[in-house]
Amino acid sequence: MTEPRAKQARHGIRNARQLVRGAARRLQEAGVPESRVSAEVLLSELLGVGRGDLAVLEEPVSEEQAALYEAWISRRLEREPVQRILGLAYFRNLELKLDKHTLIPRPDTESVVEAVLGVVDRRGGSCRVLDIGTGSGAIAISIAQERPLCEVHATDESEEALELALRNAEDTGVAVRFHRADLVSGLEGLADSVEVLVSNPPYIRSTDIPKLAPEVRDWDPPAALDGGPDGLVFYRRIFAEVKPLLASGADLVLEVGDGQAEDVLELGRRAGYVPLGTHVDLAGSPRAVLLRWGAG
Ligand code: GLN
Repeated sequence: MTEPRAKQARHGIRNARQLVRGAARRLQEAGVPESRVSAEVLLSELLGVGRGDLAVLEEPVSEEQAALYEAWISRRLEREPVQRILGLAYFRNLELKLDKHTLIPRPDTESVVEAVLGVVDRRGGSCRVLDIGTGSGAIAISIAQERPLCEVHATDESEEALELALRNAEDTGVAVRFHRADLVSGLEGLADSVEVLVSNPPYIRSTDIPKLAPEVRDWDPPAALDGGPDGLVFYRRIFAEVKPLLASGADLVLEVGDGQAEDVLELGRRAGYVPLGTHVDLAGSPRAVLLRWGAG
């Protein structure tokens, strides 16, 4: 062993590779899922380097950085998700801030945006879009960014979530009009004019919430998860309450949980909408349902 290395070891100073190895082992032993990825992503974000570079960084990590890394690993040991520790999540082209008032945007929801983009394109690329329950703004901001001719509105019942979503929209450099609303109450200004309605409502059955992974159960805002006794409460409300806002022929794109697509399409049909079909996510599961309102 060369002298500097021996010195480093004596002072407990380690390089990135050694830190990651130790952290990944502790996470794995504690049964934390994605232990290695968690250890790598946290350190690469902390050091501002790519994940692939961690293995080749020879210089020791500073004491301050190592202490912060240790604090972050302790949080991960408590099953706090990596995105919450970092306060940011990647979603399509976006880097979004998040906090305790917002759900972590999921990769599944990227496919819901894809479904919306397809609908927007079929309508000629410029339309008025409304995202209900926007959270961090992931869906609304993506649509505004990827289809700049659209006029995008978004609601949330949480003032804190809306503030965060607004910052995310500003950081992305897109305009989204945010409205505080319990679903769509108070949006009379949009009457008869929404052409594309999208939502990722809370859809977990109340009784299933205790069975969720700790990362979700203990860290996502309960109000963003709880879909009532059968998980479908918000779909019924959306179908009933959005009609006054919809333009004739409006398209609806709603994210659904596993196994809910048929039930939600049927609820929509009974409420007077035309079921059009489903859009699958990367895993091949129907993740969004598509419906149409009125003639058009
Ligand atoms: N997709 C989230 C989960 O299953 C739930 C989000 C929601 O209820 N819309 O963890």
